[in-house]
Amino acid sequence: MRRVSLRPENAHQQRLLLMLRDDGPVSRAELGEGVQLSRSKLAVELDRLTEIGLVESPGLAASRGGRRSAIVGLAAGLRFLGIDIGATSVDVAVTDARLNVLEQLSEPVDVRQGPDVVLAVVLDLVGKLRAGGNAIEVHGAGVGVPGPVSFRDAMPVAPPIMPGWNQFPVRSVLAQHLGCPVLVDNDVNIMALGEMHAGLARTVDDLLFVKVGTGVGCGIVVGGVVYRGVSGSAGDIGHIRVDDEGPVCACGNVGCLEAHFSGAALARDATDAARTGRSDVLAERLSASGVLTGADVAVAADAGDPFAIGLVRDGGHRLGLLLAGLVSFFNPGMIVIGGEVAAGLGHPLLAELRSVVYRRSLPLATGNLPIVLSELGSQAGVIGAARMISDSVFSHD
Ligand SMILES: [Zn+2]
Repeated sequence: MRRVSLRPENAHQQRLLLMLRDDGPVSRAELGEGVQLSRSKLAVELDRLTEIGLVESPGLAASRGGRRSAIVGLAAGLRFLGIDIGATSVDVAVTDARLNVLEQLSEPVDVRQGPDVVLAVVLDLVGKLRAGGNAIEVHGAGVGVPGPVSFRDAMPVAPPIMPGWNQFPVRSVLAQHLGCPVLVDNDVNIMALGEMHAGLARTVDDLLFVKVGTGVGCGIVVGGVVYRGVSGSAGDIGHIRVDDEGPVCACGNVGCLEAHFSGAALARDATDAARTGRSDVLAERLSASGVLTGADVAVAADAGDPFAIGLVRDGGHRLGLLLAGLVSFFNPGMIVIGGEVAAGLGHPLLAELRSVVYRRSLPLATGNLPIVLSELGSQAGVIGAARMISDSVFSHD
């Protein structure tokens, strides 16, 4: 893969690139208005961006009266990789400069197998995208991992469900293989960015993205920027204690939210119910497949199984109470619920969350607070990862 390093040289160029990424291609006239540059200054900056290969002028805009204005867009050959490493699978997508997904590949792999195995799968998928002609030159790669990440050092720190990954230098290993800039963050943060860039949260600058997958986490976007906290662990709501007497969590503490409600907790409770005769539907599914997951609870609840319905209600209630606290604290413009377990549970979970949050929070905070299910699904992570690295590549400092 060719090594490519293109950067804007000043804040004007950065603003032009971001406008072209989010709204482009546009006419020169619209661009000048959008970033408030004089015609001559705009011409200088666009010439320079064209020279370094970031911008192209593919044609002329329709006339608005007078001379037709040239259309300007980001270079058609710019490519970003979005890499979303989940607990049980890896998604890799290649996007164009506007972060449209050109191709996305997915492969099941258990993150507990460690960085050597998992990153080999990532590189194999990148190789396939490359062979397909979509990722021959790559200008940056964003990576999400399912655990706490020190954003500054771009490495996981004591991740509970990722044995073998503690302090592993994900960025430098991938940057060496891919030959491009790489950034690494928690998967929930990149999903929040993806929802803000291309999902239902496009219209808001302050949002919470709650992922219910194997674990539970929350991405916080403040003023259009991910809030990571001092060390990168902001939004780690899965390990807030919701019950002093609760089950032991993967993190070693007792009564964490995700020990009560998460893909792992649902699988545990469903298996227990199947074995002790509390759910015929779950017992049948267990004997058929040998193992139960959160998806089985969704199917059983859908089929009217009272035990499964109870699990969804109870889990939704506990998560809802916690969200009501977050709403009072943060006053978000939207809450997006995502992750594969939430997607499987769907509207019954959403209904429970809405009912608790709207009942428990003050009207001023909930009067204009949509609580919605993600429509991006598995694209949220890869688009957000591409967005993260594009923010950096299009930044001049
Ligand atoms: Zn915990």
